[in-house]
Amino acid sequence: MNKYGKIEELIDLVDISNDIVIFTGAGVSAESGIPTYRGKGGYWNKYDPNKYANIDYFYKDPSYYWSFFKEVRSPVLQSARPNIAHKSIADLENTEKIRSLITQNIDGLHQVAGSKNIIELHGNTRIFECLKCKKKFTLDNVNTLLESKLPPECSECGSLIRPGVIFFGEVLDSEVLSMAEKNTLEADLFIAVGSSLVVQPAASLPLIAKNNGAKFAIINIDPTPLDSMADCVINISASEVLSKIAQEIIKSG
Ligand code: NAD
Ligand code: ZN
Repeated sequence: MNKYGKIEELIDLVDISNDIVIFTGAGVSAESGIPTYRGKGGYWNKYDPNKYANIDYFYKDPSYYWSFFKEVRSPVLQSARPNIAHKSIADLENTEKIRSLITQNIDGLHQVAGSKNIIELHGNTRIFECLKCKKKFTLDNVNTLLESKLPPECSECGSLIRPGVIFFGEVLDSEVLSMAEKNTLEADLFIAVGSSLVVQPAASLPLIAKNNGAKFAIINIDPTPLDSMADCVINISASEVLSKIAQEIIKSG
């Protein structure tokens, strides 16, 4: 079967499933201009992810993270728009076949595309909190604060502000993780899209689904370590595959 025939195969799987979990990674946002961690791209060249994405380094030198945020991440977040992959997932949600959307992404683009029930395993980089008084800040608030001070200070108590993401070196929120596991256990089809499936728990959720009798499909332009256990592997871009699936399923529904 050629690789396009595999899309038909996945459409058939979606058609007979009613509790689908869609699991997304950085590849889904690549076509929105947000570079992935793995693969080519200039996002990570000037700033070292071992520093700006590491919790110990954040406390050691918060200005490193905030310089990266001001120069690189914030402009990207402000210009990035959801692509057809995000929109097709939101369209599929309306068919009520989707049990939940679990994402490793922190960019908030699924919400902008209209998805509702999103489990964000690694948090969200558009929300912020004061480490001391817990006051919350939006992206706009923080950008305004950054104009006068770097690192930005809490407008209430003057303390350090942190982003709502899980840094390397931090544990995932246990409630968020158990919600992801619960939904995965109840899935009849688990579709991983645009994830290298090497970061935990990304690498373990498909195993939970498979062991519980669900079908498992992978949509990723490159091979992943879990390809051999998947029922269907499609090495085509997320936008192309998901738009075809959404079109067919909505047409037939
Ligand atoms: P990853 O960077 O490890 O892997 C991305 C995968 O997507 C790669 O295997 C690549 O082949 C594939 N890919 C690239 N473009 C694609 C496309 N158009 N269609 C289909 N597949 C495509 O991503 P990950 O597994 O999500 O792990 C990265 C970690 O970094 C996560 O923890 C995540 O929180 C974080 N991260 C998030 C973002 C974001 O929010 N957009 C971006 C970079 C990194
Ligand atoms: Zn404060």
